[in-house]
Order: sequence, then C-alpha cells, then structure tokens
Amino acid sequence: TLANSRDIALQDRARRVIPNGMWGHMATRSIAPGYPQFFSRADGCRVWDADGNEYIDFMCAWGPNVLGYHHEAVDAAALAQLRVVDSGNGPTETLVELAEELTATLDHADWCLFQKNGTDATTACITIARAGTGRRKIIHARGAYHGAVPWCSPSVVGVTAEDRAHLIPFDWGDAASLDAAVAQAGDDLAAIILTAFRHDVARDQELPTTAFLQAARAHCDRTGAMLICDDVRAGFRLDLRGSWARHGVKPDLAAYSKAIANGWPLAAIAGADRARAGAESIFTTGSFWYGAAAMAAGLATIRILRDTDALAHTEAMGNRLRKGLDEAASRHGYRLRQTGPVQMPMVLVDGDRDLAIGNALCLAALRHGVYLHPRHNMFLCAAHGPADIDRAVEAVDRAFADIAAAGLRPA
Ligand code: PMP
Repeated sequence: TLANSRDIALQDRARRVIPNGMWGHMATRSIAPGYPQFFSRADGCRVWDADGNEYIDFMCAWGPNVLGYHHEAVDAAALAQLRVVDSGNGPTETLVELAEELTATLDHADWCLFQKNGTDATTACITIARAGTGRRKIIHARGAYHGAVPWCSPSVVGVTAEDRAHLIPFDWGDAASLDAAVAQAGDDLAAIILTAFRHDVARDQELPTTAFLQAARAHCDRTGAMLICDDVRAGFRLDLRGSWARHGVKPDLAAYSKAIANGWPLAAIAGADRARAGAESIFTTGSFWYGAAAMAAGLATIRILRDTDALAHTEAMGNRLRKGLDEAASRHGYRLRQTGPVQMPMVLVDGDRDLAIGNALCLAALRHGVYLHPRHNMFLCAAHGPADIDRAVEAVDRAFADIAAAGLRPA
C-alpha cells in the first residue's frame, strides 16, 4: 500500500479552509477514493505525490504538459522574460511575436487574442460570434465540455435558465441532429461550437469524420454563422496547424490553452478575418492576460514542437502504450476499449458497467507506480520514452493480476 500520511494530513487541513477540501476536476475523491490529492514535484513524465510516492504520469497536468514537466528551454524563456517584466502597464513585444507565430503556424488563423484559461477563450469565442453576427443562438454538442462558467458548466447548480436560454444541443458527430439544431436556430444562429474530437468523460472517444466537419462548415457558410473549434484539450498535441487541418476544414474561431505553453498559464483565440469585426467590437480583458512570461513560454513551446519530432514521438509512444495495454489485458482475460488519438487515450474496461473494474485497476496501477485515470482521457508527452511506456505496461500488467486475484470481472 501507498504511504499517504502527509496527503491525509493536508486533506484534513484543506477541509477547514477550502470548500469540500478541494473543488473541480482536481478533487481526487471524484476520480476514485484512494487517489493522492496533493503533489510535491513533477519532472519529465513523472510526478511525486505529497508523500513522495513516484508515478509515471499519464495525465500530464490534465493536458498542459506536452513536452515534459519543466522543460528546460521553455522554462528558461519564461524565466528570462519574468526577470525583465511579466505583468506590466501594457504588453511587451512578445505578444505581437506570439500572435505572428501562431497565425503563421495555424492553418485557419489571421489574428489572435490571449487569455489565461480555456474557459476565457471559449466564452470570448461565443461573445465574438454573437457580436459579429448580431444573433443569439449557439449550437453545442450534448456532453461536450467547454468550461466551468454558467453558459457551459457541466453542473447547473447556481446557474439560471436565462444563462442558457440561447443554447441548442445536438448529438456530436450526427449530421441529422446538427441539421435539426440549425433548423431550430432559424435566422438567429450565431455559432456552432465543437470540440476538436469527441472526448466526453466515461465513454468511448470519437474522431470526427471529414464529412461531419464539412457539414458543420457548410451550415455556417450558408447561414453566416461562425464555426468554433474548441481545441483547448487537443490543440498543439495532434497537429500544430490545428486539429481539423488534416480534414481541410477551417474554423472561423478556435480556442486554445492547455498545451500551448507547456504548463505556463496561457490561452488564445485564433480567428479568421471573417470573425475579425466581431472581435474588434467587443470588450474583453483580464488583469493577467497580457503577462509576457507565459507568452515567452508559448513561443518557445510552439517553436520546439515545430522544429523537433516531439509530436510524432508522442504518437509513437501512444501506439506502444495502446498495444502494451491490450496485451496486458488479454493476458489476464480482460478486454479494453481504447479510443481516441493514441496520444490522448481513453482506456475503459469492456463490460465494466459501473466503472468499478476500471477504478480498481487504476488504484492498483497507482500502487505499482503509474498514474492513470479511470474515465477521463489521458495524455502522453514528449518526455515519455520507450522504457517509461514499457515500465508502465508492466505495472498495469501487475495491476490486472491484482484485480483478477480479487475476482473483479465484468458481469
Ligand atoms: N474546453 C475543453 C475542450 C477543455 O478540455 C477544457 C478544460 N478541460 C476547457 C474548455 C476549459 O479550460 P479551462 O479549464 O482552462 O478553463
């Protein structure tokens, strides 16, 4: 079993001064009871919990870590900027340089705005679309995550019906459902917002078909609405040009964050000229949105991703992990459902209706030194090497042996 006395002590202290002891997706009680809540260190593809237990990590800070934790060149760029100025009375040259770099790198972008969190970017995309079109309705996929503010939070506690009055849901990937939503919006359609691919929790992930993306694009072209790609989770992991570039479909607006600066706090909206007037007409800002250190980190991250084989390497490691996990599962008589891009894997145990097997498997893997998530997509980074993947697969093999010995089987 894992030493966890420091974690327990911190949880006790936190419960007194933090509502529920922790909030949001990092409240580990909602992952599976027994997960460490607090961490003390991260390096490359490894993390250490507050008690010093070391794990090969497959959450990558829930997405920001794309090159490896505290990547030397990225951190050096950010720290050099930090020593000169980070937040000041106005932005630095870095802001313009980063916007130039992003518009040159992304295949759909003519301009950029910067924020701090993914929700800042998705929310401003909606506002820009409404401002630019003079319309109200936003079509979104049921179950898709776009952030944690009233218009899009997965919880409706504290949210009014008015906050969501102009949202029209449809079923992700289903062209007929999208057609019906567009018809319902009539002449009031401001935007269709879609995640880069379907990565909802606790279900198989789905990549978009080119035909589906083209259908969404055609609706926007016909009606004058804006097509928004929420690329917060997948951006700068799958394709530097933007996650739909391989489909040849260009969004009018796209939201980025997470991997954009390898863990330094940064988000961006990248827009096409078609959406520029809307962006010019709204007021959007934040105290820390002009901070230059994260922008320097973003510049360094994008250049490293462009000039190295980091993304191809990560994909190769994802393939190695997927194959290894499948083999480990079948050695013990289990079948996995591994879906989505290999470098952002969703790993579910087939027939595991209430996720009890997946929870037990991930807890056992934790004890063997691997940090997995039982129902959220995971992330690989460029610091994962073949030896890390092989060690992780060995650990998961032992975890399967543990749950098999405990008699945990699909019904
Ligand atoms: N959109 C997507 C697709 C996301 O995955 C997330 C974060 N998980 C967000 C938006 C919100 O980003 P943030 O938590 O940085 O506000």
